[in-house]
Amino acid sequence: MNDLTSLIAATQATLERIARDFSPAVFASSLAAEDMVLTDLILKAGLPIGIFSLDTGRLHPETLAVVDAVKARYDYAIALYHPNAQAVDAYVAENGLNAFYDSVEMRRACCGIRKVEPLGRALAGKRAWVTGQRRAQSTTRAELAVEEDDAAHGMTKFNPLADWSEQDVWDYIRANDVPYNALHDQGFPSIGCAPCTRAVQPGEDVRAGRWWWENPDSKECGLHMVDGKLIRIKSVAA
Ligand code: SF4
Repeated sequence: MNDLTSLIAATQATLERIARDFSPAVFASSLAAEDMVLTDLILKAGLPIGIFSLDTGRLHPETLAVVDAVKARYDYAIALYHPNAQAVDAYVAENGLNAFYDSVEMRRACCGIRKVEPLGRALAGKRAWVTGQRRAQSTTRAELAVEEDDAAHGMTKFNPLADWSEQDVWDYIRANDVPYNALHDQGFPSIGCAPCTRAVQPGEDVRAGRWWWENPDSKECGLHMVDGKLIRIKSVAA
């Protein structure tokens, strides 16, 4: 077996274990390339792991188009969770539409309303959640494990692609003709909300285009943080 074949087999085994031992489990898809690999693996295997995405209200149209592409390709409707409209209106009325550029605190407050609170709703009642994070993506993910104890959400968190490289992801996508976000072909290796994501130059860190005005160590959206710290509390041997 070559390296990618081994990675795929290990990832399939992890997903099967999640479906078998951690039901109900859900996969939080950001609709980026990594998430499409997991989407393809979950749906082709028919695993009972629900797939959802956080529609923050500030996504690129190309990102939302991926939801339709998944429906067309797999006949699967990704569940979309939206922010509380009153909370969004209050934040915008008080701070302006793009206050996240003003400070890390303002940015985290916006992510809190548009991502973290809806994530809590999506995870309620679940035993495990799955993400498409990879260890090589950035300094904030250097210690990422395949399986973690997410005490903040009271469940186990799985990052089945932790060991995958960016090349592995794209080799899988090409080999399996997996649909993907058109922004990836326009210099966006990592994709989030439109006002907080820009294209990167060749050789730049893959997450350099996310919240590019901030220090690299602060660049997580809050989905993987509590009280300003990354949730990497305890890794569990897979
Ligand atoms: S990524 Fe930007 S627009 Fe999206 S929720 Fe966070 S601060 Fe708000």
